[in-house]
Amino acid sequence: MSKKILILAEARGAELKKSSLELAAAAKGMDISAVIFGSQAKKATEDLAKYVKEVHWIKDAQYDHYHPDAYASALSQVIDEFKPEIILGNSSSLGKDVLPALAAHYDSTIVADCTFLDLSQMTFQRPFYSGKAIGEISTEPLPMVFVSLRPNSLGLLPAEIGSGQVKELSTNFDFSASAIKFIESTQAKSDRPDLTEATVIVSGGRSLKSRDNFKLIFECADAFGGAAGASRAAVDEGLADHDMQVGQTGKTVNPSLYVACGISGAIQHLAGMRTSKVIVAINKDPNAPIFSKADYGIVGDLFEVVPALTAEVRKLLGKAA
Ligand SMILES: Cc1cc2nc3c(=O)[nH]c(=O)nc-3n(C[C@H](O)[C@H](O)[C@H](O)COP(=O)(O)OP(=O)(O)OC[C@H]3O[C@@H](n4cnc5c(N)ncnc54)[C@H](O)[C@@H]3O)c2cc1C
Repeated sequence: MSKKILILAEARGAELKKSSLELAAAAKGMDISAVIFGSQAKKATEDLAKYVKEVHWIKDAQYDHYHPDAYASALSQVIDEFKPEIILGNSSSLGKDVLPALAAHYDSTIVADCTFLDLSQMTFQRPFYSGKAIGEISTEPLPMVFVSLRPNSLGLLPAEIGSGQVKELSTNFDFSASAIKFIESTQAKSDRPDLTEATVIVSGGRSLKSRDNFKLIFECADAFGGAAGASRAAVDEGLADHDMQVGQTGKTVNPSLYVACGISGAIQHLAGMRTSKVIVAINKDPNAPIFSKADYGIVGDLFEVVPALTAEVRKLLGKAA
């Protein structure tokens, strides 16, 4: 039976995030509307409108930076009007913050961080215990359910359905009366894909020893056209920026290929990357725990193996050094 689905889509500047298209694919065949924030998001709304019936665009520049109360207020405005049965977002920083708050507001439930979902049957799968177990979940029949999907879980693209309507939505949230004030946002400049959305990630550990040596990881990531990640030990020692940290207290990633270079495979690191489809580990210790989770393992010195891998990938993909 066709359900009413509201997608919480995300844009980075003008570009629609690939993970938002995955949400539209997950809701294929349903009555889909979407909501998106950002004054620069015109192109993203047009791209999204090819896959959904209606896009509610919150264009007001005050929403260019996340504000928990303002976003929740704007979303409830859309929810009250559209009355969706399912509100579907990504388990991104935005989805992790705003969706549970809204679920509580509507006295509903949230099935968070799914790696598989079937909206027609209302059945879901999600990892538990840092990914050691996958649980199957179904919900009680409720008027409205909130669901978040881990990016890259389904690997699907939606079919175009034509051209949906884009509606600019004016909101009534009073920013000046809110106790939460936006002060500043600093963002690392990078041409690489976002870690949580990347299909290939090359990560480095403490064994890189210096910030300068981390360029081996960046070069390898660039050869694949992927993102660069790091263990917490590498971040704590200042070898890599904090936004590169993968793991329990860093980002949860779900790429098709994860290359762990000189990373031991501590449980807290695995918690962030163990749902990767293929894991390659490079480590000089044959007993390193990462090898028990890896699909392919190379026992060797990363300072020799990683440059050789980079050169080989460049050759295969016809990329210049
Ligand atoms: C509450 C809590 C939360 C945490 N959250 C996170 C988290 O989010 N993410 C995270 O990553 N960690 C997290 N940690 C830390 C985690 O427990 C580990 O300490 C950390 O992951 C280790 O990082 P590492 O593998 O880079 O370093 P190490 O454990 O020092 O391992 C380095 C590895 O590199 C190998 N090596 C050394 N030299 C070379 C070389 N030349 N070539 C090839 N291999 C080499 C070694 O054999 C070793 O296996 C957390 C810990 C706690 C307590």
